[in-house]
Amino acid sequence: MNRRCWLYVFAVLCGSSASGQSLPPGFVDPYPVLAAARAAIGTDQLQCVSIAGSAYGGKVGQQRLHGYEVDWPRGEPLQNYRRVMNWQTGTMLEQFERTPGNNPASWKYGLGWKGGTPVQQELQQAFMVNGAYAWHRDGENAVPVAAAAADAERWQLDLWINPHGFLKAAMLPGANPRATWRWELGEMGRDGATVNPEKMTVVSIYVLGKFRVDATINSQNLLQRIHTWVPDPVLGDTNYEHEFTNDSYLDIGDGIRFPSVWHSHTGWDDNYQAQSTNAGHNAFGGSLAEIQANVCPDPVAVPTAVIEASAATQADTVVATTAVADGVWLLGGGSHNSVAIEFANYVAVVEAPLNEARNLAVIEAIVQLVPDKPIRFLINTHQHHDHIGGLRTYMHIGATIITHWKNYDFYTRDVLNYAQRTLDPDMLSLWPPTELAEGYQYETVRENYVLTDNQRTLEISYVHPLAHVEGMLIAYLPAEKILIEADLFDGPLVEAGPAVAGSPANNSLYSHVQRLGLDVETIIPIHGHITPWSEFVGLITR
Ligand SMILES: [Zn+2]
Ligand SMILES: [Zn+2]
Repeated sequence: MNRRCWLYVFAVLCGSSASGQSLPPGFVDPYPVLAAARAAIGTDQLQCVSIAGSAYGGKVGQQRLHGYEVDWPRGEPLQNYRRVMNWQTGTMLEQFERTPGNNPASWKYGLGWKGGTPVQQELQQAFMVNGAYAWHRDGENAVPVAAAAADAERWQLDLWINPHGFLKAAMLPGANPRATWRWELGEMGRDGATVNPEKMTVVSIYVLGKFRVDATINSQNLLQRIHTWVPDPVLGDTNYEHEFTNDSYLDIGDGIRFPSVWHSHTGWDDNYQAQSTNAGHNAFGGSLAEIQANVCPDPVAVPTAVIEASAATQADTVVATTAVADGVWLLGGGSHNSVAIEFANYVAVVEAPLNEARNLAVIEAIVQLVPDKPIRFLINTHQHHDHIGGLRTYMHIGATIITHWKNYDFYTRDVLNYAQRTLDPDMLSLWPPTELAEGYQYETVRENYVLTDNQRTLEISYVHPLAHVEGMLIAYLPAEKILIEADLFDGPLVEAGPAVAGSPANNSLYSHVQRLGLDVETIIPIHGHITPWSEFVGLITR
């Protein structure tokens, strides 16, 4: 029995009106609200839409300073942005021009750096989703690169997180709409232009059988905000929403209206939401005023290579182990390395990147190498999300996290908490280790920190001056003359390939090592291959 039917039975049993419209206090009937919203913007007349203009993309998870920045750092602008959405075929095409820069190629707005993601090389970028498959082209004639299943699902979700998409999704089987109401004061709170709070209806539905999505609908029957939660290895169930303003809805004929200006948040929009230090981060937006209704090009067929790649095993869990020195191993095989260091009574690991699957595979490999000692410490270089997606995995196995003190607030509140995660629950959320260490989860570093068993020493220091991100640590093994660092220098991605150097981050690493008088012979970078220090010096002094 569906919910509506159940409510009807409830109403009859309780002797309420026979209309079936009597709902528990706090709820309203979603169906008239949805019908009025559809009529207001002509959803029933629209099969597909093409929108174009200029937009921006934020680099989610790549903040430089934490807690002070309202926006995620912007990548290069998205020029000649165009998106075609076809709800009948379940397809979406996005194209734009973006000057090659420090953008990950395989992710459209620069969200994080996924496994094996190279840097964008070409101007023309295209992203396609067709059902459960998604892929990307870096350059007009480039080979299509398959998106990971989770990304494909997210792009498919994007097709439905706009006013027409939402209203169409609400009519699909399994949408199960429910509605409530509330008064809203608006963007600026007490000091805003809205004197009288406006009464809004909020309708929630299920999309793709998984995501609970809600839309805020105003008294003019226009959708102002569409909100949902998406899974994220760092933040768990993460706020994801698009916002549209009334006056940006353009009339494009045949009773159809579409918003021409919108923006979206990944993370909380409300900067005063104290529950999270990761707040108020605009991640995508633009002025997309060239709107065409019902000009639907044939959906792009899924390339065979994309189908085959999607069926292949996850690259994230491939671990290639290299012994670098006695009791020191590089655990590579993917886009981000980890390094295991054996001490007399325990093992310390540098870096827990990407996600839980990656780190479980790395931990398994370490346990094979050193079966009789616990992994006691995890040293985290910095707070970028692609470098901390496995911190929770190390907490799960009982390791203490060594990190810079500037990361402590963010990690405690947003990352290493015991809150339930519903969309893609990890080990820590399923089996919270509430009494595992009674609060001893961290060692925070200010300037210098030493791990030693009097035979082996690992020196951890806070890199100065600030480059790449605040709270950046490096680790150094003085006896082995090995330096372990992330993102201050990336080793060549291919064996014997050229490394690129000369950036402010390279210079920061160099001057930090000089100032501390470290006698480095070998760099183990978290990205790329082991590089002799002399080669690095040659590159930056060239
Ligand atoms: Zn980084
Ligand atoms: Zn990195």
